[in-house]
Amino acid sequence: MGARDPLIERFRQNFGGGARLYRAPGRVNLIGEHTDYNDGFVLPAALQQCTWIAAAARPEPRLRVSSLRAGETLEFALDDPDPRPRRDWSDYVRGVAIMLQRDGYRLSGADMLIDSDVPVGSGLSSSAALEVATGYALLDGASQAIDLTRLALCCQRAENEFVGMRCGVMDQFASCRGAADRVLLLDCRSLEFRLSPVDPSVRLVICNSMVHHELAGSEYNRRREQCEDGVARLKTVLPTVRALRDVTAADLVRHGALLSELVLRRCRHVVTENDRVLRAAAALEAAEVGEVGRLMNASHVSMRDDYEISCREIDILVELAGRVDGVLGARMTGGGFGGCTINLVRVEAVDRFADAVGRAYKEATGITPQFLVCRPGAGAGVAN
Ligand code: ADP
Ligand code: MG
Repeated sequence: MGARDPLIERFRQNFGGGARLYRAPGRVNLIGEHTDYNDGFVLPAALQQCTWIAAAARPEPRLRVSSLRAGETLEFALDDPDPRPRRDWSDYVRGVAIMLQRDGYRLSGADMLIDSDVPVGSGLSSSAALEVATGYALLDGASQAIDLTRLALCCQRAENEFVGMRCGVMDQFASCRGAADRVLLLDCRSLEFRLSPVDPSVRLVICNSMVHHELAGSEYNRRREQCEDGVARLKTVLPTVRALRDVTAADLVRHGALLSELVLRRCRHVVTENDRVLRAAAALEAAEVGEVGRLMNASHVSMRDDYEISCREIDILVELAGRVDGVLGARMTGGGFGGCTINLVRVEAVDRFADAVGRAYKEATGITPQFLVCRPGAGAGVAN
């Protein structure tokens, strides 16, 4: 019960009674960018901001889905033998239903009303929040036992194969398994994970640049191809290498000549970023927040220069953050080409940080950024 009861009321007006309310959070990644699809390590946290779905079963094997954000209601058959993507928001919902069924789940028809307070297209993973909330609602509505890891994998497959975005598993996993006041260290190969508290002397502050460059989708998939190219070439001399996860910085120095200059830089980002994630997780657990900040700064330089996924506005935000006393580290978070930065800020410096960076960013770009002090929230579940 609580703030989202109006969604149940709205559902009652549109579809009738009997709805349950489900929620799945967006996420912010502290460090470990573009490492998940290389079988590597990531360190995200679930957000308080969520996608909410009011859902109730219906007798026919059809989904009727309505998004308040999209202002649209669509209907799909669950037993469509040849489902085609519409190339819009509903693909995330329908893709999840399809992949759950392909994974062996029997689903029931449902009416679903969707609302969300996760910023869309800002690198905070509104897409995973939508997928995971959908999957949770469909499984619960069909009285199926929910295995959160299997749910995360089905949601990732929906985005990979139905939406056409070749994302790794981080976003969906964090939305499923995040926990209040914890960051989540995830091994994206074994899917083993560990939840750790954040030192109370610091805050994770998200700064939204309010820009989103159209490149994001196509460049993301291109980066994956470049990583695969690197693995294929390194395999010729290092036969045990299955993914960049298995490559060391020393391997890249020794065998770098096998790679094009561009692919070498892409691989160097991933290899050094994996190392930074593990060191950042250890530093966080040892309350060495200064070291976490330094690793975040190094991560940004690597994304900017080697992986080339930053943009002017994001670089300005990171540079401005570095000038504020009490800011320990700053980096872009999310897939790239806009979206948000994540900043590790001493508690007493949070207001000063938002004030100084907000003003200087506006001066440099004409854009007013948005700040969000992140308190890691719980993973997906039933909300009423
Ligand atoms: P991000 O995941 O970083 O927010 P993406 O481009 O991966 O950005 O996903 C954004 C897309 O997810 C939107 O364009 C829209 O299609 C879909 N989406 C997210 N939340 C909602 C919602 N509440 N209603 C409808 N579509 C949504
Ligand atoms: Mg997304």
